[in-house]
Amino acid sequence: SDSPILVTGGAGYIGSHTVRLLAEQGRRVVVLDNLVFGHREAIVSEGVEFVQGAVGDRELLKDLFTQHQFSAVVHFAAYAYVGESVTNPLKYYRNNTAEPLTLLEVMQEFGCKNFVFSSTCATYGVPASIPIVESNPQDPINPYGRSKLMLEWVLRDCDSAWGLKSACLRYFNASGAAEDGLIGEDHDPETHLIPRVLMAVTGEISHLDVFGTDYPTPDGTCIRDYIHVNDLAGAHAKALDFLAGGGDSVRCNLGTGVGVSVRQIIDAVEEVTGKEVPVQYGPRREGDPPQLLADPSYARDTLGWEAQHKDVRDMVRSAWAWMNGPHQGRYPR
Ligand code: UDP
Repeated sequence: SDSPILVTGGAGYIGSHTVRLLAEQGRRVVVLDNLVFGHREAIVSEGVEFVQGAVGDRELLKDLFTQHQFSAVVHFAAYAYVGESVTNPLKYYRNNTAEPLTLLEVMQEFGCKNFVFSSTCATYGVPASIPIVESNPQDPINPYGRSKLMLEWVLRDCDSAWGLKSACLRYFNASGAAEDGLIGEDHDPETHLIPRVLMAVTGEISHLDVFGTDYPTPDGTCIRDYIHVNDLAGAHAKALDFLAGGGDSVRCNLGTGVGVSVRQIIDAVEEVTGKEVPVQYGPRREGDPPQLLADPSYARDTLGWEAQHKDVRDMVRSAWAWMNGPHQGRYPR
């Protein structure tokens, strides 16, 4: 379709890869990002309009919706540090739950009824059963997860009340980067495993701390479902098409269904980089479930989406390409 798509948080990690894909698919894209964590340089595609601003800025949103007849909104803009959400919950409830209400109000006012939402496997908390299916109980164990789950509830109620159709995409562990190394993951501070293992290889940090070796898993380290950021991007494109085609509101896990331990990530990094990772084995990090693993079959059956990258070495290889690319893993500050 020709009417543009509004992408909030499009200058962030997952947002920027999605914007690049949507632009490559010939879609018109307007990015709204406040650049608190996003990077202007992460928007690399020609013809993408960039607007610096907040999802809670009603006047700005009204201007944008008047100027463009958006057919859909893809909403990435959020804070995502679990630890910070515990010490500063109001920051998370304000930014992740409250501010988007303004966006939804403006959508209702302008009759825009398709919404793709960045949700998270953190809404499940410690999973009652593995692999996680969408009907698993959602019982988040931190304010970050609750801030996301509450917006899922808001979206459900907006569907009942005024026909908002939403796709809640529950990401597992987003990882990897563009294969050409042009865009990638640049968090400050960086807490995620794969970039930190690579930083231990480059010497940017002295060593990797492994958080816990006594988990009830085959090698004692935590198991996660690492999903390539470009696969996540593809799921957003599929979700947009699904809703544009009249699909009903849907909630989907986005993962590979393959479980990978911390130790296996270290092994993959050593294989890809050809270098040894300096490692220190330490205590568990609070709030880490031993195992998180998606059953991704519902996304396949509804959206027709399936992860293309199921070998975690693909994620490590592309993250390494980003670390060695034009920005060396860090956008200009
Ligand atoms: N992890 C680790 N050392 C680090 C960062 C992470 O051992 O420096 C472990 C962490 O305990 C978890 C896994 O790696 O089991 C993935 O952590 P990450 O923060 O990347 O994602 P999460 O699953 O917490 O969202």
